[in-house]
Amino acid sequence: MDDQKNASETIGVQIYKLIENLYPICRSITGDGVRKTLSIIEKIIPVTIHEVPTGTKAFDWEVPKEWNIRDAYIKNKAGKRVVDFNELNLHVLNYSMPVNKRLKLNELKKHIYTLPDRPEWIPYRTSYYQENWGFCMSHNQFKALPEEEYEVFIDSSLEPGHLSYGEYFIQGESDEEILISTHICHPSLCNDNLSGISIATYLADILSSKPNKYSYRFLFIPGTIGSIVWLSQNEQLVHRIKHGLVITLLGDESDFSYKKSRRGNAEIDRVVEHYFNSNNIPLNTIDFYPYGYDERQFCSPGFNLPVGCFTRNPHGEFPEYHTSADNLDFVKTEKLEKSLDRLQDIIFILEKNVSYMNTNPKCEPQLGKRGLYDKIGGSNESKSLQLAVLWVLNQSDGQNSLLDIAEKAQLDFRLVYQAALALMDGKLLTEVKSTT
Ligand code: ZN
Repeated sequence: MDDQKNASETIGVQIYKLIENLYPICRSITGDGVRKTLSIIEKIIPVTIHEVPTGTKAFDWEVPKEWNIRDAYIKNKAGKRVVDFNELNLHVLNYSMPVNKRLKLNELKKHIYTLPDRPEWIPYRTSYYQENWGFCMSHNQFKALPEEEYEVFIDSSLEPGHLSYGEYFIQGESDEEILISTHICHPSLCNDNLSGISIATYLADILSSKPNKYSYRFLFIPGTIGSIVWLSQNEQLVHRIKHGLVITLLGDESDFSYKKSRRGNAEIDRVVEHYFNSNNIPLNTIDFYPYGYDERQFCSPGFNLPVGCFTRNPHGEFPEYHTSADNLDFVKTEKLEKSLDRLQDIIFILEKNVSYMNTNPKCEPQLGKRGLYDKIGGSNESKSLQLAVLWVLNQSDGQNSLLDIAEKAQLDFRLVYQAALALMDGKLLTEVKSTT
């Protein structure tokens, strides 16, 4: 049970090892690859695995037939496998129909996908909603194929079955929820999907072991159809989602990117920007646009949920994206770990962002007689902490949250929070309970 957990390893190493474990599996939007992935995650967190039957309606969509694949190859005249699914699952057009025939190179070419601009790499291609078959290979290999007859074989099935997804709910003090969603439908691709899956798993594990104000809902879903299915089956509870993040692309070496929610000024949008700005960490902030990952569904106008998308390189904007170069070398242990740290810091702000009421609002209270000077003096930060105390006292009229104050004062949230804790101790603040 605990073979995924090893206390002597850093969390970054554990995240990377989970990626290594999941890398060889041929995932798709349905099928046994998703189930196998979820069963590995289940060894770390008690994720619930849902199975939604083919044909189930989900708004304007329906759950497709289930796809499974066992073997696929192209053999040359001499009977040698020149392309082999067992070597790398990207070699097969994802959702390929079964095929078993001999054909000339000219005919075969119509079913081959390559990347002429990156002739060493193998592309990742899908054909979910159009019945087709195909192979992906490096452009160099493709150019070198001699004119002869080939045998193509894909042992796949596309039949009524299920769409599988994972859900893990952690009950907090409040029923209000923070949603963390990640896609699980890509085969051997590390940054695009495995980094998100692995970080979400360990983040869930960490959050489950401590008391939280919010409840947390983690979704491990196939892209697009998974979020549409989930939303269609959980419409009655989406009002509980107060903040959300779609996470993926978190293992490469680039700076962080944050795509805002459709609302543009949701608390999550402000928290992410404030955190990076006040800590002088570079952040590429992107306004919402209706392309990308599952934020497209969470932020569709009928839901308009406060869900942003947190990545390093943005969606589609790096050469390795959707190619065989998004492999185990492309993601780095320390980058994965740092991404998890950032997410925990963002969650800390969401958890602690409340409004207070100054209990002594007529002129400034005397801090000395309440022992507060001792509390806020002495540290290197004491001067800015004193300033934070004055800001919190002045702004705590029940209307301003600690984030409002931190933004206005241009002080780091943690400092403002520390000031609020000291003032709570001195009985100069009371928390304003949210009425939502
Ligand atoms: Zn992708």
